[in-house]
Amino acid sequence: MSVKIGVLGVQGAVAEHIKTLERNGVEAVNVKKAEDLNDINGLILPGGESTTIGRLIVQGNMKEKIQELAKNGMPIFGTCAGMVLLSEKIEGGEPAHLGLLNATVNRNGFGRQVHSFEKELNVDGIADNFNGVFIRAPYISEVGPGVKVLETIDEKVVAVEQDNILAVSFHPELTRDDRIINYFINKCK
Ligand code: GLN
Repeated sequence: MSVKIGVLGVQGAVAEHIKTLERNGVEAVNVKKAEDLNDINGLILPGGESTTIGRLIVQGNMKEKIQELAKNGMPIFGTCAGMVLLSEKIEGGEPAHLGLLNATVNRNGFGRQVHSFEKELNVDGIADNFNGVFIRAPYISEVGPGVKVLETIDEKVVAVEQDNILAVSFHPELTRDDRIINYFINKCK
């Protein structure tokens, strides 16, 4: 079956995700407005600046539609800022954006602008020895029922799955290792 996956294209690492999907044989849709959410089998929320992306989701009337699609079981994959957008709680009291992941996130948990690093990860059941690229990365500090923790760094959760929701702190689209994206593509089939 051919799969069509949307990449929320309002801000951030959009082109990299589209390229990754296309080289894995998936039709990618650059989602810039609510109508673009029709007829997709899955959605990627890219890295970028979560406050900006969150605001543009609301302005574009996409918030309720994304929430509804997620509740109907459509797979959603959040990378970096995307993880922040998905979480039900943000440390520090900032209001949540989509609130689809039963978890508390620390937005700049691994440090600010200068704080980028790479680390080899074992993402449970998906990819061992995966090179994680972290850029001003968030981490999850607490998970609720139904959330599977797939990888941690010093007790900081960097990869989770809750039914149709997948979220990672790092940027798989900036590597040529397509194991995580292929796992997501398969969820969308
Ligand atoms: N910490 C950033 C935020 O919360 C996300 C950084 C990223 O996506 N590279 O917006």
